Amino acid sequence: MSRFFSPKYASLEPYTPGEQPKEMQYVKLNTNESPFPPSEKAQREAAQAAMGLQLYSDPTCKKTTDALAKTLGVDSDEVLLTNGSDEILNFAFMAFCDPKTPAVFADITYGFYSVFAEINNLPSKIIPLKEDFTIDTSDYFAAGGTVFIANPNAPTGIALSRDQIEEILQKNPNNVVVIDEAYVDFGGESCVPLIKKYDNLLVTQTFSKSRSMAGARLGFGVGCKALIADLNAIKYSTNPYNVNSMTLAAGYGTLCDPEYTAKNCQTIMENREKTATALQKLGFEMTNSKTNFLFVKHPKLDGEALYLELKRRGILVRHFTASRISSYNRITVGTWEQMQTLIATIQSILEEQA
Ligand code: PMP
Repeated sequence: MSRFFSPKYASLEPYTPGEQPKEMQYVKLNTNESPFPPSEKAQREAAQAAMGLQLYSDPTCKKTTDALAKTLGVDSDEVLLTNGSDEILNFAFMAFCDPKTPAVFADITYGFYSVFAEINNLPSKIIPLKEDFTIDTSDYFAAGGTVFIANPNAPTGIALSRDQIEEILQKNPNNVVVIDEAYVDFGGESCVPLIKKYDNLLVTQTFSKSRSMAGARLGFGVGCKALIADLNAIKYSTNPYNVNSMTLAAGYGTLCDPEYTAKNCQTIMENREKTATALQKLGFEMTNSKTNFLFVKHPKLDGEALYLELKRRGILVRHFTASRISSYNRITVGTWEQMQTLIATIQSILEEQA
């Protein structure tokens, strides 16, 4: 740290992204990316857009926003595209929390929420998940702040139903409830249809997982017109050109190819179930994941030791050090070939232990 770094960041603990090693070819199951390339339509649109990079991108993101709104069945002024969904989440912390309106979120959830609270100098109210890692929705009734719920949750993979979220919305009429649906396309129930009914609901989603565009950085928020206008005020006060032209074009191409996205999600869900069955046969315990990852532990294997041993053998998974979940690993669901390699490797590790 230099002597010039503002003391207001003295206690800032930046988010630690999953490893992106370049030194060797791992079976990469650690950051919940799609194992499939982006749609060919996305690739073509992005290549075309590359030829116009001398110009700034469209700050209104009109073409892609209109296509997205049509896909979601909402109006264009009810959607805001951002540089990954991390950006819309940060905007929501900036726009809807303040010293008297804390950010309310679970103890085990997406690690960036606490960082967004910290960097924006906002208070947080942390609500522990139940022993089995499910959310007790009544803990969020009259939450007394802006609620952030990842649904399905990460890294647990567990989903709440739309009815459960609707109850939380009804019990917090004077606070915004942000539902982070980064993983919703793998078996969750989206709350997007509820935005017409609740002016306190903001839903965020991403092109990074189901739509195979993690490297392009495209996410979005969906909410009533007034909430989106607030978020636009933040956007235009930070970076009006927050989404680059190639990414906007790739997003448009992806939206023109919904069959490709649906087919990939189907494959991932099938691979998830087959992998879960195989790992259960090997003695693993796991949560009921509705995402593109499994959250697993084994009674005879230490979480960190398994992570390190898999890494040594060329497979990357994600291990978290937080004490409640340190016996677990989060394993991204990839192609069936990748999952077979994972299963066989874990089987060898277990046999060598016996
Ligand atoms: N929410 C959750 C729950 C996530 O796991 C992630 C990905 N790490 C994000 C949001 C952000 O994803 P992105 O910025 O790639 O859209």
